[in-house]
Amino acid sequence: MPISDATAQSIVAAVSSRVVEVRERIAAAVARGGHGQQVTLVAVTKTHGPEAVSAAFQAGVADVGENRVQEAESKMSLVADPVRWHLIGHLQRNKAKAALRFALVHGLDSERLAQALNAAAVDANVTIPVLVQVNVSGEGSKSGVGRSGLQALAGQLHLCPGLSVMGAMTMAPFDAAESVLREVFAGARAARELLQGSGHAAPWLSMGMSGDYEVAVEEGATHVRLGTILFGGR
Ligand SMILES: *Cc1c(COP(=O)(O)O)cnc(C)c1O
Repeated sequence: MPISDATAQSIVAAVSSRVVEVRERIAAAVARGGHGQQVTLVAVTKTHGPEAVSAAFQAGVADVGENRVQEAESKMSLVADPVRWHLIGHLQRNKAKAALRFALVHGLDSERLAQALNAAAVDANVTIPVLVQVNVSGEGSKSGVGRSGLQALAGQLHLCPGLSVMGAMTMAPFDAAESVLREVFAGARAARELLQGSGHAAPWLSMGMSGDYEVAVEEGATHVRLGTILFGGR
């Protein structure tokens, strides 16, 4: 059901003030961390309606993240604002074609998915920007390539002309101690270095969510993916 204009305006006001605070905190974290990077704020709108996407855009955030293809596509059809859609969740190989609708695919986590995405891109005569999702902590529940698989995947990606390897992405364990977060984020930074050493441009590092983004930025994040802190609980 469409929401009223008054409700939409109060969402915009709330999101705008949170965006201002988050940007200040990001700037302070960049200064503390000393990596000097530019940070893109990706507003994660999963489970929220299309009005959340519009509110983010009106608050000056043009990058929006969704973790499920179907939910993202339904919002794409409802939102007129020219946002960049990021696919931040796991992508099934049989939905590889859907990746063409996203500005960046954060969850490339296997050689088979790379092949499927490459085929879709080559078919459409485009390149798909991707981040390699790495599982630094080795947690079984988290998807992502482990340390051992990364070198092989980096090599295989040179055989994928349809993919543009933009860097690495990771998720830290939920509610971990700061020392663990730092280890995980530094591990993702090392993964990006490995990609660069293998010859990929890989300038980006997508890491940090509502609970840990300041530490992630201190450790060099170029993209933070924030849902709860901008839009409230899900
Ligand atoms: C949901 C989600 C986020 C945002 O999480 P918050 O804690 O709400 O900020 C970030 N990244 C991924 C991959 C997600 O699925």
